[in-house]
Amino acid sequence: MSIGNLEALANDIAAAASPFRGYLNDLRQKYQPLQDGAVADYIPELALADPNDFGLCVATKAGQIFEAGDCDVLFTIQSISKAFIFGLALEDHGREYVLSKVGVEPTGEAFNSIVLDEATNRPYNPMVNAGAIATADLIEGANSAERLKRVLEMFRRYTGRELDINMPVFLSEKATGNRNRAMAYLMLNFGMVSEKIEETLDLYFQQCSLMVNARDLALMSATLANGGVNPVSGERALAETYVQDVISVMLTCGMYDASGEWCYRVGLPAKSGVGGGITATAPGKLGIGTYSPLLDAKGNSLRGIRVCEALSRDFGLHLFNAAPAVHDLEAWLQGGDDAARW
Ligand code: GLU
Repeated sequence: MSIGNLEALANDIAAAASPFRGYLNDLRQKYQPLQDGAVADYIPELALADPNDFGLCVATKAGQIFEAGDCDVLFTIQSISKAFIFGLALEDHGREYVLSKVGVEPTGEAFNSIVLDEATNRPYNPMVNAGAIATADLIEGANSAERLKRVLEMFRRYTGRELDINMPVFLSEKATGNRNRAMAYLMLNFGMVSEKIEETLDLYFQQCSLMVNARDLALMSATLANGGVNPVSGERALAETYVQDVISVMLTCGMYDASGEWCYRVGLPAKSGVGGGITATAPGKLGIGTYSPLLDAKGNSLRGIRVCEALSRDFGLHLFNAAPAVHDLEAWLQGGDDAARW
């Protein structure tokens, strides 16, 4: 057995023994009864999600994985893809060029609002649909197949597995996404995006239709927390220099028009999607992935919000926390004294 395998085995054993697993199960039980909110239905296929599904996963920088609930259920990544596509665009073109095409300013508006920064001739940020379409436009590749392949390859590096496109969701979005199409053509009119707009819209709908589970989302954020290197596979998913770009925009714009409230309450860079997923990163520490398709009025997963709030509070994960945490994360993960008392 190689040293790498031995380390992975040691991590698995530690993860199995850690009280953290029980803690996550308790969170799941506590928030499972929440029934407020609704499954998204503006993309017809999304309305088929089971409102009872609820999974939460934490992946640490050391590659330990803790799961509770439905962590194998696949759902579409939707807007969560936007943060990672922004990273790929930065790798393709560098910061200066990307920022000439899309800003980093929160809009305070809904994700699908038709607002553009006409003063700088850019959409406001890569997390709203307009900005995400402009960012998808920047993904390099000789043709549509190659561009998609590069996107799939990027997500494989973050998650450690090949992701598939949910074809019914993709076709449903393509058939009903007239608002996105209108926005794309408005941007074309202003010269904000290139002429290959239909190909880019397909790429955007495809990236949103990729199927992930809560574990994938935890690993994606753990990779960001680990400076761009997947902590389980050891593979680099994003150039180190762009990790802070992606994380910053997640913090300011990642939770739709609830981003300010989220930053105040949870204080973790995060991105949510209307499929019901949330990915949140505690830089230098861990990644969180949650899935529950019941959304609040702003499009964020209700149970997912509660889970992230609890983790942030109990382990002092808020970026600006200066008070001692209720529980010492490191001690917990290693089964130390604090863990024994829990
Ligand atoms: N594909 C969705 C759309 O463009 C993504 C929305 C979201 O998750 O916020 O409407």
